Amino acid sequence: MALIVQKYGGTSVGSVERIQAVAQRVYKTVKAGNSIVVVVSAMGKTTDGLVKLATEISPNPNRREMDMLLSTGEQVTIALLSMALQELGQPAISMTGAQVGIVTEAEHSRARILHIETTRLTRHINAGKVVVVAGFQGTSSAGEMEITTLGRGGSDTSAVAIAAALGASFCEIYTDVPGILTTDPRLVAEAQLMDAISCDEMLELASLGAKVLHPRAVEIARNYGVPLVVRSSWTDQPGTWVTSAKPQGRSLINLEIARPVDHVEFDTNQAKVALLRVPDKPGVAARLFGEISRQKVDVDLIIQSVHEGNSNDIAFTVTTPILKRAEAVATAIAPALRSQSNPKLEEAEVMVEHNIAKVSIAGAGMIGRPGVAAKMFATLAEAGVNIQMISTSEVKVSCVVDAAQCDRAVLALRTAFEIEAGEQGSRGAGESACIDSPLPLRPSAPLPNCPLVRGVALDLKQARLAIRQLPDRPGMAAKLFGLLAQHNISVDMIIQSQRCRVIDGVPRRDIAFTVSQMDGESAKEMLIQVAAELGWGEVVLDSAIAKVSIVGAGMVGQPGVAAKMFEALAQQQINIQMIATSEIKTSCVVAQEQGVKALQAIHTAFGLAGSEKFVVPA
Ligand code: ADP
Ligand code: ASP
Ligand code: MG
Repeated sequence: MALIVQKYGGTSVGSVERIQAVAQRVYKTVKAGNSIVVVVSAMGKTTDGLVKLATEISPNPNRREMDMLLSTGEQVTIALLSMALQELGQPAISMTGAQVGIVTEAEHSRARILHIETTRLTRHINAGKVVVVAGFQGTSSAGEMEITTLGRGGSDTSAVAIAAALGASFCEIYTDVPGILTTDPRLVAEAQLMDAISCDEMLELASLGAKVLHPRAVEIARNYGVPLVVRSSWTDQPGTWVTSAKPQGRSLINLEIARPVDHVEFDTNQAKVALLRVPDKPGVAARLFGEISRQKVDVDLIIQSVHEGNSNDIAFTVTTPILKRAEAVATAIAPALRSQSNPKLEEAEVMVEHNIAKVSIAGAGMIGRPGVAAKMFATLAEAGVNIQMISTSEVKVSCVVDAAQCDRAVLALRTAFEIEAGEQGSRGAGESACIDSPLPLRPSAPLPNCPLVRGVALDLKQARLAIRQLPDRPGMAAKLFGLLAQHNISVDMIIQSQRCRVIDGVPRRDIAFTVSQMDGESAKEMLIQVAAELGWGEVVLDSAIAKVSIVGAGMVGQPGVAAKMFEALAQQQINIQMIATSEIKTSCVVAQEQGVKALQAIHTAFGLAGSEKFVVPA
């Protein structure tokens, strides 16, 4: 007999018939000898409807009242599903987040779970009842016991957290697609179903726009080793398993906010090649990285900064032994990369930096916590370390620094994030990223190997901010991202220009980053004020962007993967505005209206399209 947590999303409980169908499925699982806790979302598009009502009354509704309002959606479903189960003769009881004791931070609309009381749940389970819990909501612990919500899509997180707290055998996420697909089937009809995906890959996909799972749910599954499967509530197909290595025992106290950083890693065997002033037009990155991959040079980080005028800077890192080859390719191609529209513009200039090191902090706990990257930058600034390049992914922030400062940087970071010396540095890039545990409960299933690209995602809800002419000295990134963190604004891609200009005797660089569109205007307003005080240049906001990303643990150490993505975009005449990579992903910012086309082209280029088409319920 197993204890199983099942979560049903909005569409799965969107009507009386659907609720009855869900009750049947739960009933069948109980009759097979299992104990079940069910977590449900609000019916259909109820939450969207409630948000709309609120905005009709107030353009900027009070967050406490918003939580009060939105939490009602789930309360309807729990009562109806319990009734449906009781009609089948199955004892059941509904419980709100507060009744269970899902204790969260007192942060309305984006609360993280601190801990989950299990006494009441366990008592009902032991009495043979199905407990039906309202997802997406909790209660603050501090005195007043306020109703909180976890953020849109947060019922997944409720379910996995309950599974972790109860030590459930596994957690099933029932939704309107047959599992996790290579991309969103609503945008690419040829998307293919996967058997399994590693938590690391899913974390990236989920945070890069694949809304099939809430990233925080994946984070909890990874931290606590909760076996997780995404399945259709319409069929009996097995769905997609999200696998993780067995973690070391972790306390269930401060469930979502315990240690954000697990490792400090470094690599001193790195060199940087930058091409300055390459033309800002489709095909340039494809040409450069296509040639580099033909020469079998594996690049690690790639960044392309915002353009200034009509030219870009592209920089990449390679391991020291292949620097000569990388430099030769870059130098050979530079004369060809001259702006056609402006022939007066000088040809691209190649800049090589030998003595650099990459220092990274890694850990699933940094998702949606802007303060973590800011703390890294502040720590480096306090240690007097200047940051040359920044590359971010959901679970890692890497900074390129002067090799001579590497030891100092690592020591400072270890102290700041309380990482014991023995715990750091030993993991190689991407080492933990592939599927690294046998699939739970499906011992006969073959272990999937690591494809180069497992999935592709599109995020149309990002905006880009650029700040011109930031003084190039230690502490600037810390100041900027510290401020954004104070305003609770999460930053995604962060890119510093490679070009340095001296203005008023001070060397300056541009810096660009992406934020959620929701935060775009307020971040801009705040930064304009600061820029005036600190003598920074112009602050530019562009909300009409799309971010397309490829994710796959198999791309580590494989030359040519990024080049293939750039080539697919070039063939469609899609201009790349920004590039950022981490070990297991490459993201490109393109114009918003080209987003879907870009996604489709990339999906096809990596051979992910299949013949089976998925019909998504309306
Ligand atoms: P639920 O209400 O069940 O939580 P969501 O709407 O939150 O469902 O998530 C399911 C949707 O996620 C699917 O209908 C699909 O359009 C979208 N989606 C985006 N990317 C993917 C992907 N890679 N695989 C599967 N579904 C995806
Ligand atoms: N009902 C909430 C939402 O629509 C939570 C969820 O469904 O996961 O965002
Ligand atoms: Mg969802």
